[in-house]
Amino acid sequence: MDCRILLCNTYHLGHRPGHERVKAAGGLHKMMNWNRSILTDSGGFQMVSLSKLMTVDENGVNFESPHTAEMMALPPEKSIEIQQALGADIMMQLDHVIHVLTTGDIVKEAMHRSIRWLDRCVQAHTRDDQAMFPILQGGLDLELRKECAEEMAKRAKVGIAIGGLSGGEEKDHFWKVVAACCAALPPHLPRYVMGVGFPVDLVICSLLGADMFDCVYPTRTARFGTAMVRRGGLMQLNQKRYKEDFLPIDEKCQCNTCRTYTRAYIHSVIGKVCAV
Ligand SMILES: [Zn+2]
Repeated sequence: MDCRILLCNTYHLGHRPGHERVKAAGGLHKMMNWNRSILTDSGGFQMVSLSKLMTVDENGVNFESPHTAEMMALPPEKSIEIQQALGADIMMQLDHVIHVLTTGDIVKEAMHRSIRWLDRCVQAHTRDDQAMFPILQGGLDLELRKECAEEMAKRAKVGIAIGGLSGGEEKDHFWKVVAACCAALPPHLPRYVMGVGFPVDLVICSLLGADMFDCVYPTRTARFGTAMVRRGGLMQLNQKRYKEDFLPIDEKCQCNTCRTYTRAYIHSVIGKVCAV
């Protein structure tokens, strides 16, 4: 896919092989022999999604380890320490993530706390060869988003992320928040909309002024046997009709997959080559 930037997962790498070990190996780039860019997340999101027990207080995110059941804390400083050891080109601040459909005072509190945590991340950030992106919060409230964008833009040096979206909100609300954030941000900072990957969202958000996206959608979709094709949208290669179809996914495509594998071959290995 000739991708230029790879997202690596701080939580999983911090657990195994462990950020100290990655650091000893010379950082993620050396460990993987990957000489293009790497972005790491803050680790907070996995704690929220993987942990049964999770609380947030001013100090940071507290969670029960899914591996040992012991209670652990991730303050903003620790997130930056791990990401600096991993050596990503772009690190993300630890933010207070709430579900996008949450309403009430907590939305405002989480937004203000994310700004305070950003200041702590800035303090903890000591390597000048790594960039750090703030993450805008504020739920679906356009005024809170604007306030957050103005505060965080003052602290952002290289780029800025729009977080807390893509969690089941209506498209209309989602696009309005992206539009409001992009309008409130200075033009020189690249805007990264987190967790977004459906083709239509990429097109609309690009038109609204967004520059970067990340999503499990392409890899998860492929893993479940669906190819995204130029014409016709999605091709479900697990369907029986591809069992003896010896054409490539796209006859005109010059990519490695299309030049190497037939639909029948892919049909035969779905679910076998990768653990789901
Ligand atoms: Zn192709």
